[in-house]
Amino acid sequence: MSEPILEVESLKVAYGRVQAVRDVSFSVPEGGLLALVGANGAGKSSVLAAASGLVRPAAGRIRFQGEDVTRRPAHRRVAAGLVLVPEGRQILGTLTVAENLLLGAHRRRRQAAPESEMYDLFPVLAERRALPAGSLSGGEQQMLAIARAMIARPRVVLLDEPSMGLAPKMVDEVFAVIEKIRASGVTVVLVEQNARRALRAADTGHVLETGEIAHSGPASELLQDPRVVKAYLGVE
Ligand code: ATP
Repeated sequence: MSEPILEVESLKVAYGRVQAVRDVSFSVPEGGLLALVGANGAGKSSVLAAASGLVRPAAGRIRFQGEDVTRRPAHRRVAAGLVLVPEGRQILGTLTVAENLLLGAHRRRRQAAPESEMYDLFPVLAERRALPAGSLSGGEQQMLAIARAMIARPRVVLLDEPSMGLAPKMVDEVFAVIEKIRASGVTVVLVEQNARRALRAADTGHVLETGEIAHSGPASELLQDPRVVKAYLGVE
């Protein structure tokens, strides 16, 4: 495997007295797909928030492309190619699909991909480019949120619960897009409550429990691990 492109080292995140992340370390090789799974409130979103610069860690280090970015503001991480797709999508509903994409492109200026490239990757958005983003279905809005990140031509994309609240067919489409992103060479960190789907797509997985990594390993092994199956996968 190649050098890690993203490294999280002894990360701690606290909100006042709540210790959301107690001690989390992992690294992702360039081009890899890492899944971070676990119950509600285990700290998954907080790990991504710290990696992307939205929250300041109480301790620990984030390294991106070999550089310590722990104290670098979020917009500079985006400019360097570390891009978050937040939980709940956070698209701007009154702006059109095309305008939302432009906002994503603006964050990377010259390196940004042309809008047309995103419509090739997300054909459903092409048909709706002039519509207000708020009129899209939940699945389409999720596609738009991912496209808005991808137009910035990220090196690493952090996906927070992309399948949340979607109908099964849309979940399939979102996972198909994640596979495509990975196939294009972009590194993916995927946070999911849908642990089985996430581990099937990933090469490595970590299971978070109350802010700590309880299990980790090749995703194919976690899918067979009786402890993980019992607590997170259940019967299919
Ligand atoms: P979810 O799937 O529900 O988002 P998660 O695994 O992503 O869960 P986090 O959202 O990181 O977990 O939350 C971890 C813990 O930190 C939880 O106890 C949560 O209540 C708490 N927490 C998260 N954000 C904040 C905040 N802004 N202020 C206070 N507590 C928070």
